[in-house]
Parts: sequence; structure tokens; C-alpha cells
Amino acid sequence: MKNLAVIGAGITGITTAYQLLEKGYTVSVFDKNRYAAMETSFANGGQLSACNAEVWNSWSTISKGIQWMLKKDAPLLFSPKLNFHKISWIVDFISNIPNHKKNTILTAKMAIDSRDEFRRILDKENIDLDLEKKGIMHLCECNASLEHGRKINQWLTEAGLDRKEISKDEMLSIEPTLNLTNFVGGFYTKSDMSGDIHKFTKLLADACERKGVKFFYETKIIKVNHNKKQPILTFKKSNEILKQNYDGIVVCAGVNSKFIANELGDNINIYPVKGYSITILLNDNISVKNAPYVSLLDDKAKIVSSRLGKNRFRIAGTAEFNGYNKDIRADRINPLIKWCNKLFPEVSTEHAIPWAGLRPMTPSMVPKVGSGKLPGVFYNTGHGHLGWTLSAFTSQQISNHIIRKDNILN
Ligand SMILES: Cc1cc2nc3c(=O)[nH]c(=O)nc-3n(C[C@H](O)[C@H](O)[C@H](O)COP(=O)(O)OP(=O)(O)OC[C@H]3O[C@@H](n4cnc5c(N)ncnc54)[C@H](O)[C@@H]3O)c2cc1C
Repeated sequence: MKNLAVIGAGITGITTAYQLLEKGYTVSVFDKNRYAAMETSFANGGQLSACNAEVWNSWSTISKGIQWMLKKDAPLLFSPKLNFHKISWIVDFISNIPNHKKNTILTAKMAIDSRDEFRRILDKENIDLDLEKKGIMHLCECNASLEHGRKINQWLTEAGLDRKEISKDEMLSIEPTLNLTNFVGGFYTKSDMSGDIHKFTKLLADACERKGVKFFYETKIIKVNHNKKQPILTFKKSNEILKQNYDGIVVCAGVNSKFIANELGDNINIYPVKGYSITILLNDNISVKNAPYVSLLDDKAKIVSSRLGKNRFRIAGTAEFNGYNKDIRADRINPLIKWCNKLFPEVSTEHAIPWAGLRPMTPSMVPKVGSGKLPGVFYNTGHGHLGWTLSAFTSQQISNHIIRKDNILN
């Protein structure tokens, strides 16, 4: 294999293109948008979080989903509209409940390995992404949440992660801007980080382009065929429809990967789990001083936050099972603004930019990294709520996998 095409210029596609280029392949990247990282990799929670590796496959998630069904501002919102895709995804999700511990440990290990690869890329390319190396703090509102955290800590320890339980006093000494009135304690993972996924992906895409990756932006893949030897991409640029064979393709198309996989005879059950964020512009000195630098994760509200440089504060959260629409709903944005007002009353939320994105979620919550059924078809997709955290590792995994396949063929 020599000529490879990557479908998608989000975090998974760009890291994949980078790794393949480093390994000596000729790489082309296709994306329907005008720039890299314009879909789910645009304004996420910013956390590079091994500490958040717990997969959601549990009966408690199911029972919360049912309880919250009619509560418009609930952290998890499950629309009762059902279709075959949603039902099959839920059935697979439930069948993965026995893998809760195993997949949490696996994900934590991947996240830990991802950090080394991420640092290597950062050092090599000298990318400035408003990286904060101040750790991630979990905030717990009740003893049940602490109890759950202690159980997960045992699994994370098995994976090799040091996440410590801390008292309220310790929480304040780590992040003095926090209003802790509603919390009983928490957990702290010093080794975790946060940063701007969009900046990183865009700058890495620029580095790839300088080093020879060919980018086809504003180019939509409309069909993927196979001639039994090679995949064939049919794509639309402006009003022109073109076809091109490649020795191999890597599907990194986020929530669209499912449809591309279907065309190739592969079943990759990805559901679009919608989330929202606000990016608060810290325009005055009081807000700059009172917004936290330590990245936070509120266990009950399912809200995360990350400081992006001196003047931006990102707050993200909520999971909505409601199909492919990316509409920004006020009743889902309001809880994020209220959260900021409650925890950081001195931070002005006057200028908050709302955003919504679709997490490409597999039912097991473990990404699909590997070969499809047909020769030259590969996947690095389905990273769900942890694409920013895991991509450095999974891109390395898929590129090593492609090299191994190549060596067998030659
Ligand atoms: C609210 C929210 C908060 C989050 N917070 C975090 C966090 O704190 N930490 C973390 O690790 N992760 C987080 N995530 C998850 C993370 O953002 C995603 O896992 C990640 O961005 C997915 O990247 P991707 O490359 O798979 O998909 P995308 O970024 O969506 O990229 C896919 C690309 O494929 C292109 N594409 C698709 N189909 C076609 C086609 N037919 N032709 C051409 N191009 C095509 C799209 O245009 C797109 O650019 C969060 C997600 C959300 C929604």
C-alpha cells in the first residue's frame, strides 16, 4: 500500500493522517467542510482525561435516562422517539453492561498511553493549544457520588492511573476560585490536562499540509465502492463528481462513519450523542481572576470545564439521544450558564458563545480501530465522549496496524 485516503478532518482524521505520513505513506484527507475540526472537534469540553475513562454502560445510566426523560434540562436526555438505529444501539449498549469494568480499565489504559504520544507530537510540531497541565478535579455533591468514585478509583488504579480522593480543604487549595458550598469532596488526577481541540487539530492539519499531505476540503464523499482489490471513493467538489481508487482508506468520519461502513459491508453501530458547550469570553479583570485554571468535572451535573488561555473559559456537558440534528436549544444551554453563575459568581457570563456537537458513540463506548471486511478498508472512529483524550493513541494504533497488514501483503 502506498496511497492512502483518510475520510474526515476532525481530531481522529488529522492525527491518523499525521501518523501515516510519518510512516512514509502518501496521504490524502477528505472533508466536506472548508477547514479542519469544524464538527465535533470544534468546541468540546477540552479535557484530556484518563480520569473520565468510566464507560457509561450501567443499569444506573439506564434508570437515570428513564427518570429524566421528561425533564428538559436533565444532564442526560433521551428522546422517546424510537427507530431501528436507536433500538439496536440501546440493545447493544445494554449487552455491554457486563463489560463495564473491563472497558473502563481498557479505556483508562488507552488514555494513559495517549498522553505520551500526544506530548511527542506537541514537542515535535511545537503546537500552542492553550494547554493546561494543572490536572482534573472531580466534584462530588453527595456521599453516594463519593462511594461510586471510590469504586471507580480501584479500577483506574488497576489501569495504572493515580486519581486521589481529596477533602474540601484540599480542593480549595488546588483551585481557590471554586465555590464549594454544594460539594462534599472530590477526586484529583494531577497527571490529566486540558486544551483547545480545535486549535490543536487545525495546527496539526497545517503541519501535515506543509509536510505533503494533500487536503480536499469542501469535498464530500458521496459513495464508497470496492473493486475486490481496492476501495474507490466517489466525491463531490463544487458541482463536479469525481472518482479515485486508493490502496487503502481510513474512515474517521465521526457520526457519519456508520453510513460509510454500511456501504462497505461493515456494521459499525455509532449513535450521535449530542452535547453542548459555552465558551465564556473573559473580558474583564475580575472574570479573568476568578475563572479556574484547573479543569473540573461535576459528577452529578455531568458538566466539565476547561480554561483555554487567559481569556476563555469553556463549559460543556449534557448527553442527548435525539438523532442527527445539531440545533442549539436554550433549555440545554441554560444549565451550563447557571452552573458557572453558581460555582463562579464573580465570572461574568455576559459573553457566552453556545455550541452543539454530536459525539460518535459506539454501544460499548470503545472506539473501532482496525480493519473492515474488505481489503484496504480501515477504521479509526467511534470515540464518543473521549475523542480528544484517545486520538493520539488510536491514530498510532491504526497506523501500526496498517503497516503490519502491509508487511504481510508484501
Ligand atoms: C459537548 C461535548 C464535549 C466533549 N468533551 C470532551 C472532552 O472534554 N474530552 C474528550 O476527550 N472528548 C470530548 N468530547 C468528544 C470529542 O469531542 C469527540 O470524540 C471527537 O471530537 C470526535 O472526533 P472525530 O474526528 O471522530 O469526529 P469529527 O470531529 O466530527 O470529525 C469527523 C469529520 O468527518 C467529516 N465527514 C463526515 N462525513 C463525511 C463525508 N461523507 N465526506 C467528507 N467529510 C466527511 C466531517 O465533516 C468531520 O469534519 C466531547 C464532545 C462533545 C459533543
